[in-house]
Amino acid sequence: ERILSGEAGEQDLSFEQSLRPQTLKQYIGQDKVKANLEVFIEAARLREETLDHVLLYGPPGLGKTTLAAIIANEMGVNLRTTSGPAIERPGDLAAILTALEPGDVLFIDEIHRLPRSIEEVLYPAMEDFCLDIVIGKGPSARSVRLDLPPFTLVGATTRAGSLSAPLRDRFGVLSRLEYYQENHLQEIVTRTADLLETGISEQAAGEIARRSRGTPRIANRLLKRVRDFAQVRANGVIDENLADNALELMQVDRLGLDHIDHKLLKGIIEKFRGGPVGLETIAATIGEESHTIEDVYEPYLLQIGFLQRTPRGRMATAEVYRHFNLEVPAE
Ligand code: ADP
Repeated sequence: ERILSGEAGEQDLSFEQSLRPQTLKQYIGQDKVKANLEVFIEAARLREETLDHVLLYGPPGLGKTTLAAIIANEMGVNLRTTSGPAIERPGDLAAILTALEPGDVLFIDEIHRLPRSIEEVLYPAMEDFCLDIVIGKGPSARSVRLDLPPFTLVGATTRAGSLSAPLRDRFGVLSRLEYYQENHLQEIVTRTADLLETGISEQAAGEIARRSRGTPRIANRLLKRVRDFAQVRANGVIDENLADNALELMQVDRLGLDHIDHKLLKGIIEKFRGGPVGLETIAATIGEESHTIEDVYEPYLLQIGFLQRTPRGRMATAEVYRHFNLEVPAE
């Protein structure tokens, strides 16, 4: 498994569970999203209504699942969790919806992967809190309307663009999570070290933060690995030198790039003179699926200005040449 992947792996699950902040106050960063949610939650509570449906979107590992749990917690209701791929038939969704209690939060992760036929079941559920189900087959089939308890749907997706317009339009709150600033990630690293009862210097926390690709999941994962080094090679306390060495050994460079990023960027420079080069061509050169590049590798490289998307393909920017100590080609 790639240590710098924003996606959760098997070994992340129970570790992450223990680190999840429980309240908006404990949730670090994402100030705009938090400020908005604070108001909506407070207003819904004052009116004693359910919160509007919320769509959270942004790259994996930025805290969407965590935020869904916090919303339920702040509203004082239960959280039910499922995901787009887990719901295969309309009946699966009906079973989940009819089991909800008034006010509950239903979290659907990867909501863009819901089949269209199931999305259509969701529309009246979101709009009017009811379900239209068809009973029987052929000429004797009839449609029955079932009332549902009012609930809040929290949907999460990595790309808002891949959601169908009718589904997107049924969310009252759309919140886009951004890659975290370094100081916020440093706070997250420090908080996690506290929870793990591991000593860490401010500089070391900063060093881990800098290499975490703006992503709390990666920050926590790197910290966990660095802590292993500290236990084996030092007295358990993480200082800057140790963090630096450990990250070096894990082949995570100063900007949080690893051998896959290097292969991708160097490929564009060496084989295509910096581009532009099409996504499919890059995929073939480095032996990866183009959608993996688009969803997993590329977003952070675009974010830090290492890649540029042009109509004719991807280009490596001058920053990349500098990062690799190469001469920036003349225009
Ligand atoms: P996503 O659902 O977007 O993939 P998660 O909500 O599962 O991301 O978050 C991944 C991990 O990062 C969790 O273990 C959580 O503890 C941590 N995390 C995410 N956002 C924050 C935050 N704002 N403050 C503290 N920890 C966070």
